[in-house]
Amino acid sequence: MTRHLSFTLLFLFTIYFFGLMPVNADSPLQEQVDPFVYSVQPGDTLIFIALKYNLNLADIALANHLQNPGLVVPGQRLILPGVATLSNQELSTVIGEQTHTVQPGETIFTIASIYFTAPDDVIALNDLPDPDLLQVGQLLTVPVIQPPPSPPLTWPFSDVSLSEPTIIQGRTLIVRVSLADEATLTGDFEGQPFSFYHDSGNDYWAIVAIHALIEPNIYQIHLTATLPDGQTLRHPENLNIVEGPYSSEAIVVDDTRAGLLAPEVIQQEREKLETQWLQVTPRPLWEGTFGYPVDENPPRVTSDFGTRRTYNNSTAMSFHGGSDFGGGVGVPIYAPAGGVVALAETLHVRGNAVLIDHGMGLFSGYWHQSKIVVTAGQRVQPGDLIGYVGDTGLVTGPHLHWEFRLNGIAVEPLQWVSETIP
Ligand SMILES: [Zn+2]
Repeated sequence: MTRHLSFTLLFLFTIYFFGLMPVNADSPLQEQVDPFVYSVQPGDTLIFIALKYNLNLADIALANHLQNPGLVVPGQRLILPGVATLSNQELSTVIGEQTHTVQPGETIFTIASIYFTAPDDVIALNDLPDPDLLQVGQLLTVPVIQPPPSPPLTWPFSDVSLSEPTIIQGRTLIVRVSLADEATLTGDFEGQPFSFYHDSGNDYWAIVAIHALIEPNIYQIHLTATLPDGQTLRHPENLNIVEGPYSSEAIVVDDTRAGLLAPEVIQQEREKLETQWLQVTPRPLWEGTFGYPVDENPPRVTSDFGTRRTYNNSTAMSFHGGSDFGGGVGVPIYAPAGGVVALAETLHVRGNAVLIDHGMGLFSGYWHQSKIVVTAGQRVQPGDLIGYVGDTGLVTGPHLHWEFRLNGIAVEPLQWVSETIP
């Protein structure tokens, strides 16, 4: 009895929830098409099936006269209304594959639900003889899909778009919003507020850092419009974050320099930088695509952004927060875009360091220089000389470590060279 009640509640909730979603508005059903019949797979739920085929759960329930949509059983045959005309759309929702590492307590069902796919798809992709025998640490191939549709827009939100609705760890996301009325727009992602730039008319944009170590999952970007009378209206936009293609390396630092890794030294230096890069200049100081900071194009990358790192046999995992460019001592370093020098001084770990504020919470850093030729507060234009490559600070050889911080979070620098943002 209680079980039936909870299924009924689940049914009512899902009908309410999914009933609000716009479904296939641009794919009118054709007449004279045989309905697509789906055979329910082990582990399927109606929600999985609805998400997989981008259908309204209520439509499936009605088409199949389901009294209790909480109960579908393997082998059961379901008419999926409209699917015969939707095969391309169905295919386009799966946009790739990625690797999932099995965590303690996970089952094939919980893993499938993380990636909004059916357990049977995960079993098939991995050719699993016994899906009940998963090992912690086992690597599974899982599909990458577009995130489920966000709730429909309500006034005053007239348009919301994400540069990459499915995005890998470590990248910069661009959020564009149009408002139908005068309001102040703010956003937050995982509890971190971000600010919008009011472009022109009713259009706004913001850049959001996706942390290189954030757990892959479906997340929501929260938008808040505050009207002149103080009333606040919100919109959540779904975002699918998938694992980045990052490798791992163990760094060994020799004894003479290992002293620089003392926790208090690292902490002090980090705090000094944070007081700079957590400030937000509320307008972009750059324009167009960033250049490389050295003459070589493209420069030789000796260590990629995002590489998972351990130091001197420690088990603590961090990641490489920038791109390392090879090159001898004395190679000139240039500003890649407009900005204001926020810091230019000698640090213990980062050596001779320059940090440039580009506005909107974005900073670029240049560590280990042999010589700095700019001073804090100086305005720089793209191509201005800022210093020379060196081997100062905590390094194993001369190189330029080029780091981008967005609201304090390290993001992939090379994205800013290959794409025009916003
Ligand atoms: Zn580096």
